[in-house]
Amino acid sequence: MSYWVILVTWVLVGLLIGSFLNVVIYRGPKMWNLVESDSPGNLVSPRSYCPSCKAPIKRINMIPLLGYIMLHGKCASCSASISLRYPLVELLGAAAAVIATILFGFTVTAALAALFIWTLIALSFIDAETGFLPDALTIPLLALGIVANAIDLFATLPNALIGATAGYLIFRLIGAVFQRLRGLEGLGQGDAKLLGALGAWLGWQALAPLVFAGAVLALAAVGTMRLSGKTVSNETPIPFGPALAGAGAIAMILNGLHLPANIWN
Ligand SMILES: [Zn+2]
Repeated sequence: MSYWVILVTWVLVGLLIGSFLNVVIYRGPKMWNLVESDSPGNLVSPRSYCPSCKAPIKRINMIPLLGYIMLHGKCASCSASISLRYPLVELLGAAAAVIATILFGFTVTAALAALFIWTLIALSFIDAETGFLPDALTIPLLALGIVANAIDLFATLPNALIGATAGYLIFRLIGAVFQRLRGLEGLGQGDAKLLGALGAWLGWQALAPLVFAGAVLALAAVGTMRLSGKTVSNETPIPFGPALAGAGAIAMILNGLHLPANIWN
């Protein structure tokens, strides 16, 4: 099979996974009781419906990206705008698949790297919308990182184990100190589990650069909020999760460029 056939296949798979990530982002927080809901459902039922009028979405309009374009970004029944998040997450899902293939070819390593980034995409959007990083995603992500590195795919096993433990403990410690000094939760337990998961995938050496890059991205987000006229006070919750997840995805890409599994080496 030619390289291009494989790449196009991965783009289509990535778009479909992105479409599934949208379901996880929308229904996950309800399913896991992080937000109030009278009908949480699950990841496969009920069929996708419009959040405004609850009308079921036609199969043809559920095609990733094309569905959004065909509907001109509006619900077919009630004309409510469809959030730009849907096509954006689908595109990010495809981008993750393509990047993983470019780095690692058509391999298990590529599939795992894509799975890592896909999970980070879901976590980012859930945290931005609800302020939670659900255990249902962070803990399996941490465990899968250890499994992948049991055969040294992205880091050696000792480095991964130290990374997971240190990542979690550092943030718990900072969070506890912050709570003592300020009386409010600056770093949640979810952030600690996410940093632990990133340490499990990328090794302890990645922790300091990750926290630094995450802080820079979070500050950039605050700057953008200020510039766009939003009031940002000390009490405004800044979800650190999306910034940290973004840093994690970038670190995976940079790490991938140096790994022996990289097809360009
Ligand atoms: Zn509608």
